[in-house]
Amino acid sequence: MSDKEFDVIFIGGGPGGYAGAIRAAQLGLKTMLIDDRKGDDGKPAPGGTCLNVGCIPSKALLDSSKHFHHIQHDYTAHGITADGVSIDIDKMLERKRKVVKQLTGGLVQLFKANKIEFVNGRGKLFSDRQVEVTPNDSEKYTATAKHVVLAAGSVPFSIPNVEVDNEYILDNVGALEIPEVPQRFGVIGAGVIGLEMGSVWSRLGAEVVLFEALDDFLPAIDRDMAKVAQREFRKQKLDIRMGCKVSGAEVSDGKVKLSYNDGQDDHEEVFDRLLVAVGRKAATDNLASDDSGVDRTDRGQIKVDAHCRTSAENVWAIGDLVRGPMLAHKASEEGIAVAESIAGQAGHINLETVPWVIYTDPEIAWVGKTEAQLEDEDIEYRSGAFPFAATGRGLAMGNAVGQVKILADAETDELLGCQIVGAYASEFIGEVVVAMEFNGSAEDLARIVHAHPTLSEAVHEAALSVDKRAIHKAN
Ligand code: FAD
Ligand code: AMP
Repeated sequence: MSDKEFDVIFIGGGPGGYAGAIRAAQLGLKTMLIDDRKGDDGKPAPGGTCLNVGCIPSKALLDSSKHFHHIQHDYTAHGITADGVSIDIDKMLERKRKVVKQLTGGLVQLFKANKIEFVNGRGKLFSDRQVEVTPNDSEKYTATAKHVVLAAGSVPFSIPNVEVDNEYILDNVGALEIPEVPQRFGVIGAGVIGLEMGSVWSRLGAEVVLFEALDDFLPAIDRDMAKVAQREFRKQKLDIRMGCKVSGAEVSDGKVKLSYNDGQDDHEEVFDRLLVAVGRKAATDNLASDDSGVDRTDRGQIKVDAHCRTSAENVWAIGDLVRGPMLAHKASEEGIAVAESIAGQAGHINLETVPWVIYTDPEIAWVGKTEAQLEDEDIEYRSGAFPFAATGRGLAMGNAVGQVKILADAETDELLGCQIVGAYASEFIGEVVVAMEFNGSAEDLARIVHAHPTLSEAVHEAALSVDKRAIHKAN
């Protein structure tokens, strides 16, 4: 094999591409990984949207802003008072950048340790798995591989008449770098990113208004759970306006004038900064030539089968480029599964048990089906719910907001879904995911000993409640 021939080339080094490349190298495959992202210092910054401008920096800001909010609003009940609390936004942003740099730099070391040929530059697929490689700092050349994995991720959707300049009208990149707390912060889209970034700037003191075109808040979860979350967000003064479709925004004199319709009338509002968070689309631009044989769906995603095979022989696609949830852990597991399939193993990922999390306060986490989906599919089910207000740990912590809900098959008792609204929901949704992967039942969860006092006892009690035998609430 020449220097330019590989067993596998990954195009895109986000959680999908980098995890897949590491797994491929572990399996003894000669692996190239091409990723175009550079940090502010000009150094390679693999890790994709997730590490650079997504999951990690948003969580860093969510944590910083949470500390600021708690110390001002939640500690007095514990007998703690703190006067003269202030926040240094520069320092907060610098901490976030440091976390990102530590992770992206760590990846470059991991690539070396795994003997992956890592190129900081762009890759483009042509026919017969020829890849045009354009390094950021040298001449382009062609490499070939037995397998190519497309892992280029996604970019934000735009809406007509709202032009992102990342100074006043922002996408996720700009929203993670606002240099001072805006007095009024507008957000288009009350989905995952809108709610998380809205929470950050609201906790830091901005007046935050979210405009959501749909009438139903968070349609991916059940109405009762969405209501619990919406009530808490209202208490936090997040002004969430449902059924409000934004039709345009323009910048003048350092302010953003936004136009929207509430289903009846047209309105205008003025903000200091505006975030456009209306979803993301597959990043297919300039990724594959027309004769590469890679088909797309009507929605512009790369078309794949259940094993992430595209229509072109030995070309695969993973992560945000393809169907399924746009989540980092889904992308990584697909990357790993594809590497294993290429190496002749039985690579597999179960999209039915991918957990979702929104890192607001309370956190919202869910897996599997909702009641509405089960009803649509004519599946008979039983449900059990349990509030954190009835857990010792929730009360001791002073954070007993929200509840757990479990859905199980009415006949077999197999777990079909779980939704959690509450503190640390992101951490203990995992136990339900594990149980579901093992085709566990609500009874299994109900018979497992849960440590006391923990918030996870609410999962235990919700599972007991499916059979109307919860201990710490009336059934
Ligand atoms: P990406 O992470 O998008 O990586 C693809 C990489 O490929 C990019 O670096 C891109 O520059 C590069 N690339 C593209 N084309 C080429 C090319 N031709 N040549 C070379 N390189 C190329 N998900 C979660 O699970 N949890 C969260 O908490 C979470 N928070 C988020 C917060 C925000 C603000 C955003 C925007 C997203 C968040 N996500 C979260 C979603 C998550 O970031 C994505 O699902 C995930 O990054 C997808 O991984 P990927 O590998 O498919 O693509
Ligand atoms: P998510 O896909 O979780 O990032 O959420 C994006 C949200 O933006 C969805 O709930 C959309 O309904 C919403 N949205 C899309 N376009 C508009 C618009 N023009 N005005 C208001 N909300 C919108």
